[in-house]
Amino acid sequence: MFPDAVDPLAPDIVLAAARQPGDLAPSNIHIRDGVVSRITAGDEQPHARVLDLEGRYIIPGLWDEHVHMTQWALAANRIDVSSAGSAREAVEAVRSRLGGADTGRTVVGTGFRDAVWSDAPSLEMFDAATGQMPAALISHDLHCIWLNSAAASKYGVEVDAGGLLREDAAFAVTRELGRLPDDVVDSWVQDAAREAAARGIVGVVDFEMTWNRDAWLRRMAKGFDSFQVDAGVYPEHLDRAAAAGMQTGQKLDGGGLLRVGPLKVLIDGSLNTRTAYCVDPYPHGGRGILTVSEGELLSLLVRAREAGFVPAVHAIGDAANQVALDAFAAAGIRGRIEHAQFVRKEDFGRFGELGLIASVQPAHALDDRDTADSNWPGRTDRAFPLRSLLDAGAALALGSDAPVAALDPWLAMSAATTRSRMDGRGPWHPEQALTREEALAASTRGRGRIRVGDPADIVVLDGDPLAVPDNVFVEMPVAATLLAGRLTHNSLVS
Ligand SMILES: [Zn+2]
Repeated sequence: MFPDAVDPLAPDIVLAAARQPGDLAPSNIHIRDGVVSRITAGDEQPHARVLDLEGRYIIPGLWDEHVHMTQWALAANRIDVSSAGSAREAVEAVRSRLGGADTGRTVVGTGFRDAVWSDAPSLEMFDAATGQMPAALISHDLHCIWLNSAAASKYGVEVDAGGLLREDAAFAVTRELGRLPDDVVDSWVQDAAREAAARGIVGVVDFEMTWNRDAWLRRMAKGFDSFQVDAGVYPEHLDRAAAAGMQTGQKLDGGGLLRVGPLKVLIDGSLNTRTAYCVDPYPHGGRGILTVSEGELLSLLVRAREAGFVPAVHAIGDAANQVALDAFAAAGIRGRIEHAQFVRKEDFGRFGELGLIASVQPAHALDDRDTADSNWPGRTDRAFPLRSLLDAGAALALGSDAPVAALDPWLAMSAATTRSRMDGRGPWHPEQALTREEALAASTRGRGRIRVGDPADIVVLDGDPLAVPDNVFVEMPVAATLLAGRLTHNSLVS
């Protein structure tokens, strides 16, 4: 062949000297039209563009299966009160950050955990610290919001003597807090997405609580290209989505990065607000809240099936998981259970039998281990039960639930494999840990390793993900990320 002739089968790019974990020798990954077209040993055609990986490790691109992308981008621009040990410390953190100028914009803090506070939140305390400046604190699990009087009147809500709102009332005010100019939010989302790509992310399932499609179409039109997005739909928008002919998995943009995600249905609350719906009562009383009745859930799942939507049912407590599993069985539809934090032993096997994905957030196990021990005493052997679910046949999909935990797949995989923060404290229920191979498979939509015919979504690592020590794995150095053969992150000198 003449050197300038165009070979119709020539690759667009070759990743040379790329090593897959477990392989004895490096190989060359040929990428053509966004797909892995060949895997070879030896030297490469001189006319292909070659990225020499010099023996670095490669794995399939990583997914975060549960994010709230706008909330995550907003969180980066908010006051972090997650380390406050009391209500007083939380309001002091806000007071210390109050600037002189009143922009009219509400001062927002995030991450509080009133379940472990030594004192009770009060409206009076919050007002004394913040004066006339509207201020709002969002709980770490998003199910509770604490407002001062100025914020309560700004958003037209009535709060109790504590200043707290919970569940739907809290979500409504949180949505209001997110109403910033689109350009501002989109640029923050773009920044957060670039950071995620630099950690190896090639796709997210976005469960932002809004009519999500148009926000992402707008971002894609402005050139967003950092990762793929499966944009979830909520029940209040199901009619609109079905009328528009939308179905889970359908491509929405010309670039092929945006697809319709699952139908997200919340049926209980959370552990930290003790609204997760449980079989046994909490020590403080009550069993939590089932926010959608069994009958309503079943009819939603049937509607989802008819409209071509895959349901993703948020269920945290063991009773909520039982209700979700019953509804999936009765509706005869496959789908996902989001969180599955607390599961009855007799229900583990039903995930596999019903063909369900358990979409789990391993970092929450470490964030919430003390809350779980105090609220589910003697029963935490089935809390955040990753090993039990996997062994019983569930397909696991790892995520962060950002902003609840950071959008960093290595943080999630580290928590899943060590059940520890490696902060000197011992692991929590280490018998529920995954192996690294299992954690990688659960973060790559089951791919595990790179094969011919796969999309060229590839992460290049500076270490062997199966062999580096735990303290390296959690901060795994990512040299490059490719999305359909295109570099979305590159720290390699080329
Ligand atoms: Zn979520």
